[in-house]
Amino acid sequence: MSQPQITIIGAGAAGLVAAIELERAGHRPLLLEASDRVGGRLKTDEVDGFLLDRGFQVLLTEYPEVKRYLDLEALDVRTFRPGGHVHTRQLHFRFADPLREPAQIIRSTLSPIGTLSDKIKLARLGLNLRTHSIEDCFAGYSEVHTIEYLWSLGFSEQIVERFFRPFFGGIFLEQELRTPAAMFRFIFKMFGHGGAALPAGGIESVARQLAGQLQQTDIRCNTQVANVAPDVVTLTDGTEIASPGGIIIACPPEKLMPQLAGTPLEWKSTTNLYFYSSRRLKENRLINLVSDPTSLINTYAVLDEVAPSYKLNKQGGSLISVTLREAMDRESQIGQAEQDLLRHSRLNNDSLRFLHRYDVRQALPELSPVTYRYDATQARVAERIFLAGDHQLNGSLDAAMRSGRLAAEGVLLS
Ligand SMILES: Cc1cc2nc3c(=O)[nH]c(=O)nc-3n(C[C@H](O)[C@H](O)[C@H](O)COP(=O)(O)OP(=O)(O)OC[C@H]3O[C@@H](n4cnc5c(N)ncnc54)[C@H](O)[C@@H]3O)c2cc1C
Repeated sequence: MSQPQITIIGAGAAGLVAAIELERAGHRPLLLEASDRVGGRLKTDEVDGFLLDRGFQVLLTEYPEVKRYLDLEALDVRTFRPGGHVHTRQLHFRFADPLREPAQIIRSTLSPIGTLSDKIKLARLGLNLRTHSIEDCFAGYSEVHTIEYLWSLGFSEQIVERFFRPFFGGIFLEQELRTPAAMFRFIFKMFGHGGAALPAGGIESVARQLAGQLQQTDIRCNTQVANVAPDVVTLTDGTEIASPGGIIIACPPEKLMPQLAGTPLEWKSTTNLYFYSSRRLKENRLINLVSDPTSLINTYAVLDEVAPSYKLNKQGGSLISVTLREAMDRESQIGQAEQDLLRHSRLNNDSLRFLHRYDVRQALPELSPVTYRYDATQARVAERIFLAGDHQLNGSLDAAMRSGRLAAEGVLLS
């Protein structure tokens, strides 16, 4: 007997996981996607012989939902080394994570990243979070800003400016570290257990692998939804799609159901620049953190050192991904960022070529509080209509996938 039609709107990680769960329960969902392909914010382009992700993004291998839905071996993930290179106005130094690389304990003790007391606190925090569940990382910390939490733990200004601000500012896409401490504790724990990786085929291959698990789903790209009401989805061309089995809105809901969706989401933006250096830049698979207020750059990384396949033609030289401190508002800033990169990396002027720029306007939802614990009923906004997307929980790939799973459970129970 055929099942009543369930429609999912948005084929990002959340929508794809919702479809996987509905298929597992014997449904044949319809998945509508406004853009030309699945993936949402997980996108990779081929430009001039390179794989360029739309925004610097790493796959944290320890995320519970990543372990649940992704085959990391098939994705051929390649991990960054724990630790990083720090560039201040005067200093360039490497630091290591002694918990992950015990052989680096001396380097770690001597590095000027912070005081000895900072390093002890950092190690203690890492060990402490290892013994806590993810729920514990969130409980009681979702309304405290990360920066306040760091001060409350007694960290010095030196380690905040040289490590926490560039590193977590790069992850949260905001430099004030106003993101709830719950998120900091969760991500810190994930880094402590697993790796930060790049899939060999670019970040979009995560979405392709999720879509590859779908056999019974009717995926329609270039199909934009205008409006949602109980049991019916209306496209921008006026077509009405009956969805008596339920509807999952796996994208920002405010335009589709203005009367029910609550206050519109706010977003954090980012600018990501790509450069090619004809001279090989050796960074030991480490992320570079820039702690220099005069620089536009927050972080940069040599992607092909980690995942050589990002250079499609195995050409020499290095592919460098640069994330700016703030989203760029003037074209002239490309030249300025290039000068900053030359200064920090100590490359020669003539070895560097600008490749591409991405301005991601809706990169991460600005959420406070954030949550992890969530059940299917919380995703319900109206009769047989459920919400999914990272904005439902916290700004992470894990949250996006988890929200898709829970929305599917909600529809199945309704
Ligand atoms: C630059 C950047 C860096 C990031 N770094 C990390 C990181 O290091 N670690 C991490 O965990 N997370 C990171 N993230 C976040 C992660 O990518 C997202 O949390 C996740 O991809 C969100 O998935 P989603 O399905 O919730 O939303 P989306 O991926 O945004 O998917 C929503 C989909 O809905 C579609 N859509 C919208 N409106 C309509 C409509 N009206 N009709 C039909 N379809 C519609 C959109 O086209 C889109 O495909 C990063 C994101 C960015 C952009």
